Amino acid sequence: MTAVTPPPETLRAPLVVEFPFTRSLGPVQSAFLTGLRERTVLGVRAEGGRVLVPPVEYDPETAAELRELVEVAPTGTVTTWAWNPAPRPGQPLDAPFAWVLVRLDGADTALLHALDAPGPDAVRTGMRVRIRWAAERTGAITDIACFEPYEAGGAPGTREPAPHSGVFDDPVTGIVAPARLDYTYSPGRAQTRYLRALSERRVLGERCPSCDKVYVPPRGACPTCGVATADQVEVGPRGTVTTFCIVNIKARNLDIEVPYVYAHIALDGAGLALHGRIGGIPYDQVRMGLRVEPVWSEDGRYPDHYRPTGEPDADYDTYKELL
Ligand SMILES: [Zn+2]
Repeated sequence: MTAVTPPPETLRAPLVVEFPFTRSLGPVQSAFLTGLRERTVLGVRAEGGRVLVPPVEYDPETAAELRELVEVAPTGTVTTWAWNPAPRPGQPLDAPFAWVLVRLDGADTALLHALDAPGPDAVRTGMRVRIRWAAERTGAITDIACFEPYEAGGAPGTREPAPHSGVFDDPVTGIVAPARLDYTYSPGRAQTRYLRALSERRVLGERCPSCDKVYVPPRGACPTCGVATADQVEVGPRGTVTTFCIVNIKARNLDIEVPYVYAHIALDGAGLALHGRIGGIPYDQVRMGLRVEPVWSEDGRYPDHYRPTGEPDADYDTYKELL
């Protein structure tokens, strides 16, 4: 019987990237969001006479600057919709709801928001809806908590939108929009092999069959030749500092005292340098050619930093091609 080695199971892990995005609003968006705080929905009249809600600062057709604000009604008509059966954190409602485009009475374009409805059977294109205002309003799109059915409101009237100065006390001039990407990351087969070997304190590169260069960490293909790199080669663990910088700015969420040295390190046998922190030596004594070895993290799964081995410095000619 022949033993068959299964392909290594590819690693997967949840990954969240999140940061606050701060932006200034300008005159039109400032009036729109401040208006929401005051339960007033403002649109802007385009050059051709159409009323755009939400408003924009420049005409989408002629690119002319738009400043003629008008007030539209808090009631409107659903122009299209999609049912959201499983709301995610941060979405307008916790229970299943419909994403709707609503053309507010007096507007010519539609606004995207949520509709609170018991189920998809209760939603249809053409249905009448109205704004449900948030109890606490701050000058944000979330001041509209959601839309709710308003069949009692009857057909849209022909009321012309009313001119509005856009002037309010204490206008909102900027917002912070939290950006968040929440996904499952898979590093692929080559990096899975690399990460599994690291957890055994071995550093695995992959050799390009065409140019013979050994890539660490491997990406599965040679970026120069474009061919697959399947030949695994153990490199290091010792290496040579090829170049470095001294970091003087402390990073948030990183418990490392400044100044410290971040270096490019060519592991013995590797065809290019990877980067890592240098420790165990005063920052002003780190130099090109310094010989280093990894100091493993507490859980032993990756090199936390590199420290001097005590060997004589490497000759420049041995690493000049790796700078
Ligand atoms: Zn190659």
